[in-house]
Amino acid sequence: MGFSKILIANRGEIACRIMRTARRLGIKTVAVYSDVDSHSPHVHMADEAVAIGPAEAAASYLNADAILDAVKHTGAQALHPGYGFLSENTAFAATLEAQGIKFIGPGAKAIEVMGDKIASKTFASKAGISTVPGHPGVVADADDAAAIAGKIGYPVMLKASAGGGGKGMRIAWNDTEAREGFGLASNEARSAFGDDRIFVEKYIVDPRHIEIQILADSHGNIIHLGERECSIQRRNQKVIEEAPSPFVDETTRVAMGAQAVALAKAVGYESVGTVEFIVDANRKFYFLEMNTRLQVEHPVTELVTGLDLVEHMIRIAEGAPLALTQDDVKMTGWAVEARIYAEDPTRDFLPSTGRLVRYRPPREGLVDGMTIRNDTGVVEGSEISVHYDPMIAKLCTHGPNREAATDHMRDALDRFVIHGIEHNIPFLSALMHHPRWREGRLTTNFIAEEYPDGFTGEDADDQSIETMAIAAAVMDAISNNRRRGISGQMGGRPVVFSRPRVIALAGREIEAEVNSDDGFEVILTEDDSRRLVRTEWRPGEAVIEAVIDDRAVAVQVRPIVNGYRLSHRGLSLDARVYTPREAELARLMPVKLPPDTSKFLLCPMPGRLVSLDATLGQHVKAGEVLCTVEAMKMENVLRADRNAIVAKINAAPGDSLAVDAVIMEFEV
Ligand code: ADP
Ligand code: ADP
Ligand code: MG
Repeated sequence: MGFSKILIANRGEIACRIMRTARRLGIKTVAVYSDVDSHSPHVHMADEAVAIGPAEAAASYLNADAILDAVKHTGAQALHPGYGFLSENTAFAATLEAQGIKFIGPGAKAIEVMGDKIASKTFASKAGISTVPGHPGVVADADDAAAIAGKIGYPVMLKASAGGGGKGMRIAWNDTEAREGFGLASNEARSAFGDDRIFVEKYIVDPRHIEIQILADSHGNIIHLGERECSIQRRNQKVIEEAPSPFVDETTRVAMGAQAVALAKAVGYESVGTVEFIVDANRKFYFLEMNTRLQVEHPVTELVTGLDLVEHMIRIAEGAPLALTQDDVKMTGWAVEARIYAEDPTRDFLPSTGRLVRYRPPREGLVDGMTIRNDTGVVEGSEISVHYDPMIAKLCTHGPNREAATDHMRDALDRFVIHGIEHNIPFLSALMHHPRWREGRLTTNFIAEEYPDGFTGEDADDQSIETMAIAAAVMDAISNNRRRGISGQMGGRPVVFSRPRVIALAGREIEAEVNSDDGFEVILTEDDSRRLVRTEWRPGEAVIEAVIDDRAVAVQVRPIVNGYRLSHRGLSLDARVYTPREAELARLMPVKLPPDTSKFLLCPMPGRLVSLDATLGQHVKAGEVLCTVEAMKMENVLRADRNAIVAKINAAPGDSLAVDAVIMEFEV
């Protein structure tokens, strides 16, 4: 049976991505949306759209009754759940099945067995798959957690059986942490999944996260599409993914693929699915979980295999046999995905909310063997709210090898403009430069190990500083030409201007002379070297794309007094462009110091105060827990920066807090 209309029970980038394929296949699409999403791209993209409730996911995107009504009302024959929300909900899949509506995904039984981490581990281990050593039973309380952990041997991981998206998960190295971790993990699990069952397994030290994509039809044919490595994670959630993995050799690939296929066979799997493994330094791999759905990072597999996984999901759901065999699967080149999150990488990746005042992704497409693909569900003006996941887009590149895909990603990130909220592009850019990334020496602790004090911005290297200084000097010249009404031509004769300038940036002063003809020549006074610059930049544009000698660069720019705020290669800084006289005066200006906020505990993101752990008058020690704030379904523990006395408390549990709200005041 071929579908003529399907409903997509999701929002954001994944809803848009599914609709793109459905359209190409000539299938009509129905969107569902919550009140705050009525103008979202996924609603505009669909042929029909149905309102399903208020902003809170529980009342809309998780509202099975409202979604079922929408299916019936629109006459959709099938439903694609995307990821998250109802995608791994057994009862929902079973209800659809019972009502003759095709769920574009696996059968309810496979979801049930694999959706629960305790059940799936038990099942996998019976099917002969190697699993992480541990105790696949429910932990009763904090003391029980410590007792079980002691038996397994530290370090351990406490995990929510219903967990997903890295939520409800804590590492413990001793009894105290096991007790504390139990409380945090079960609270998080209860609020995120409505199920607080926790289990304990061995924590694999220095592991890599490598997963196998499988494809199974309803006739028992199962193949795998190779691996993806997703070791770059923060809060146990993926940030960068790639295919293939730089760590996996052909023998390991075949062995992992065989286990993944065996597991899928054992559970009678149909549709796309992913078997996640944790791999130790000796390439010994252990089953972690199976995701019975389309995965966030599926584009990297699509880029190296040339297959459309959503198309295969739809055809399989229609009952068609797989159109390819294992031998038909060929991997070409290398693909990298960077998840663009609304979060502040310099503040422990705390979520950020607000309006996308500017949103200009780099141009997609295939040029000279290199591809850029950007899966997104937002447009300029969209609101990133507290209600949903803070992922804005998935930027993917593909090239002939890992180095090319990485370089292409770095350039694409330079051109990706997002204003209005904090985002992680500077951090992603820093990762693309990191020597350990470039060597492929990864573990899931990469971020914690390489940025132990958090990400404080990329170090200013000479090349980037020079690029930014030249960009600032040239933009200044272009703006001045325009201000004077000169377009470069006067009476048919090109006019050449020569201007001495001092560019102050990153605590340095770079003297240059800018000559404008039809291009620009920048002479750096220090060593009298000359750079030929070509650019089409016009004042007001958020990115200057230029060719400096033979090097193509992109620098992001926002005007500030006397200069530009520039971003390039993960580095953000203010560049002032002065005449020599202005530079002299600027040196005499007093330096403004930022206000001292060390005596306050400020709320790092908009959220809700869950608990207060410090009391008035308490002497708190550096590192001690002060309170817990919940935002975007994550519990964030705020700790004391240094030893102090709690002098004032301005909030109570349950209060909604704005960013930078003063929660506590200290005496030192
Ligand atoms: P993937 O495993 O596909 O890489 P993640 O683990 O990052 O993806 O999770 C994908 C998305 O689905 C995230 O938005 C996450 O919050 C959400 N998610 C995953 N599992 C669940 C679940 N059981 N319940 C609710 N949301 C979930
Ligand atoms: P989720 O459903 O949230 O994706 P997973 O079980 O897949 O949960 O784990 C998410 C991540 O947490 C893994 O990619 C890995 O980085 C880390 N992790 C999970 N279990 C372990 C473990 N036993 N040892 C080490 N790291 C682990
Ligand atoms: Mg996982």
